[in-house]
Amino acid sequence: MLQQVNGHGSGSAAHSGESLREDLQELLGGEVPPQQLNDLTKVNPVTLETVLRCLQARYMADTFYTNAGCTLVAMNPFKPVPQLYSPELMREYHAASQPQTLKPHIFTVGEQTYRNVKSLIEPVNQSVVVSGESGAGKTWTSRCLMKFYAVVAASPTSWESHKVAERIEQRILNSNPVMEAFGNACTLRNSNSSRFGKFIQLQLNGAQQMTGAAVQTYLLEKTRVACQAPSERNFHIFYQIYKGAHAEERVRWRLPEGAAFSWLPHPERTLEEDCFEVTREAMLHLGIDAPTQNNIFQALAGLLHLGNTRFADSGNEAQPCLLVDDAQCSVGTSALLLGLPEDHLLETLQIRTIRAGRGQQVFQKPCSQAECNTRRDCLAKLVYARLFDWLVSVINSSICAAPDSWTTFIGLLDVYGFESFPNNSLEQLCINYANEKLQQHFVAHYLRAQQEEYAVEGLEWSFVSYQDNQLCLDLIEGSPVSICSLMNEECRLNRPSSAAQLQMRIESALTGHPRLGRDRLSPEPSFIVLHYAGPVRYRTAGLVEKNKDPVPPELTRLLQQSQDPLLKVLFPADPEDKSQEEPSGQNRAPVLTVVSKFKASLEQLLQVLHGTTPHYIRCIKPNSQAQAQIFHREEVLSQLEACGLVETIHISAAGFPIRVSHRNFMERYQLLRRLRPAITPSPHDPCPDGGRSECPPCTEPATLQGLLQEILHALPAPLHCGRTK
Ligand code: ATP
Ligand code: MG
Repeated sequence: MLQQVNGHGSGSAAHSGESLREDLQELLGGEVPPQQLNDLTKVNPVTLETVLRCLQARYMADTFYTNAGCTLVAMNPFKPVPQLYSPELMREYHAASQPQTLKPHIFTVGEQTYRNVKSLIEPVNQSVVVSGESGAGKTWTSRCLMKFYAVVAASPTSWESHKVAERIEQRILNSNPVMEAFGNACTLRNSNSSRFGKFIQLQLNGAQQMTGAAVQTYLLEKTRVACQAPSERNFHIFYQIYKGAHAEERVRWRLPEGAAFSWLPHPERTLEEDCFEVTREAMLHLGIDAPTQNNIFQALAGLLHLGNTRFADSGNEAQPCLLVDDAQCSVGTSALLLGLPEDHLLETLQIRTIRAGRGQQVFQKPCSQAECNTRRDCLAKLVYARLFDWLVSVINSSICAAPDSWTTFIGLLDVYGFESFPNNSLEQLCINYANEKLQQHFVAHYLRAQQEEYAVEGLEWSFVSYQDNQLCLDLIEGSPVSICSLMNEECRLNRPSSAAQLQMRIESALTGHPRLGRDRLSPEPSFIVLHYAGPVRYRTAGLVEKNKDPVPPELTRLLQQSQDPLLKVLFPADPEDKSQEEPSGQNRAPVLTVVSKFKASLEQLLQVLHGTTPHYIRCIKPNSQAQAQIFHREEVLSQLEACGLVETIHISAAGFPIRVSHRNFMERYQLLRRLRPAITPSPHDPCPDGGRSECPPCTEPATLQGLLQEILHALPAPLHCGRTK
């Protein structure tokens, strides 16, 4: 049953004691102080300014969560608030008969999803989409939600394997430090920035116990292994081994104290994330034993040494490049740690094997200095990306439940937020493309679902059209012509492509597209995409090459010959290796480009999300200095605009604000029945339970006023959940 109360109100499932109080105060003409407004749909009028003021007041009062219709807004406290995430508080939200009566919290979302899975006759999988810009708190939120489910959905049995008996939920939690060590890095925006997207599916059995989980990752930023932007760092794990290795391990991994590695910038910075012991312990719990760990860390040390390898032109095109300043024997040490013959490694970096001509004769061609460097970096990226994927598969096999031991799941999505830098490339294009897809899912799902529900209920409702970002998606991924299709076409043609060529094709095919802009002042070929979250200028240079992500076959072949047990697993020998040399021209196999792979994985993700009831958490970063108690209005404003929060609030406010089942409505407003006779005594008042008979409307203004006053006084004091302010 849908009840229209007035123009704005909560879109959540039921009115809480606090929100009832807010409604009543509002009806009585009293103003609710902004810091006490639990739901942004109640700010009046709904504007960017009023929403901003409310969030600011709440943030300064240490109130970090606020409802915004169907969304929960989570402000990053940038300080430890342990009482806000205690197991006691988790249990409180779990035990509450109406979790919405407690203050807005991620645990309300957690409990709602948990109950939705449980209580419905036809169980429906749930998902929580956590979004926000880098450093806003997405990973933190996902981690806390996982802990919440681990407490409320604990399995009664423990798993026995690898000589470690433990509960599955503990093992699932252990996947976090491992994935963060290998997939997170310190960036300009966040000292623990996730450089990959993650969807974790928490699997529940019929008794609502967590029996396992499955992790899916998206597009690891592998270029970081060999290239870190100024003031940024490599993945945490490199610093962890560098700082945390024991004396004997330092000898084994050739990592003497104080050694300098060019792929290890800013090792002097001390970060909490550099804790090696935590990673090792978590790996052990996931079934990665000490010898395997040793192999992993040894290979990583091998990559660090590889990064110190320098080449210089020999001055003769027919001669390979020379090794520069190799007093530390970087190539030799790297080869040793990676289980490769030194000369073979060096030769693979210096010399290209190509097939050309009609007879496909094989030629060997010395690489230029730049090509040697590219091959070195490519080798490192290849090893690291395979290692990361392998770790994810090991984690999955350690935490995944047997197919018949779970029936429903709750999915948590933690993907990189919308990015716009002075220089944007393929990484940003993919990230922003993913955000466009998720925004479309949000808008379409929320508005469509809401309006469909009205139609089913037979309510009078004029369809609200909403701004779709389909045009922008068409520009990026559409067919027959889009930015992605043009990039893919350039890769397929496999010609030495220049930025100018791609630029020309984009301009001739897409000029005039409503979401494409051009920066005429830009000194280099570039184009602007007008994303829903704002315009982003992408440099055309390097797009095709990054999209191709070429791996010279000699590199793969070299790694397949490694004697290292880990590399043997990562690069199994290919018995049908036909690609002995780099084929030229037409003979190349069609390239599966980065964007086509990414597009396929996104579509798969959206299919999964479509099969769930989604819940949304928008994380907001109050300042870019990561400081507590600082609220930068401009920065918050741009995030509110970017995620279309005010629009969402408007939609929630314009729609029917309260959706309560008839039974819940009657249970909840029993109070009215008890109070009403005292105010308007009527022996014939037939106000029923269950709503089977007609309830006379309380229309008399004076009576209503009195009734509201009466209820306001009769309400219990605001419910507190044990937190201290
Ligand atoms: P990225 O997109 O770069 O991965 P993110 O949105 O995942 O960013 P987090 O790593 O979750 O951001 O958060 C950044 C930092 O903010 C955390 O390392 C932590 O210090 C702090 N933080 C976030 N949320 C909270 C919270 N609820 N309480 C205390 N500190 C928090
Ligand atoms: Mg993150």
